Amino acid sequence: MPVNGLGAYDDSNVFAKILRGAIPCRKVFENEWVLAFHDINPQAPVHVLVIPKGKYVSLADFTAAASEAEIAGFFRAVGALANELGLEAAGYRVLANMGPDAGQEVPHFHVHLFAGHNLGPMLTRR
Ligand code: AMP
Repeated sequence: MPVNGLGAYDDSNVFAKILRGAIPCRKVFENEWVLAFHDINPQAPVHVLVIPKGKYVSLADFTAAASEAEIAGFFRAVGALANELGLEAAGYRVLANMGPDAGQEVPHFHVHLFAGHNLGPMLTRR
């Protein structure tokens, strides 16, 4: 039984379809570890999703099952992408939803990269 928090990986999820080119995305960056693209329903002036190329359903699954190289490649790409987009001076927010209480909609691990204005409080509900 994998430690993944959301059950087995389902190849029919929307990010799997994007990764195999079955549906389009507005690509921002790609390397051997990640694909980054604009969120279809942006919540900030900059709202980019970064996903690993490997099949991981959640942060729990990724951190338990991915190799050191995949984990390093993923997080280095997030930081490098934010730098290349010129976001470091003003700042940015990285967020990962994991499971039902966080409202994770797509069962392929991803982080959201938000920027472009003051992002306000970290959570809207306490
Ligand atoms: P989460 O709630 O963390 O699983 O976030 C999933 C995100 O994927 C949401 O912000 C959606 O707007 C976004 N999303 C869903 N379908 C697409 C798509 N086809 N292209 C880009 N973003 C998408």
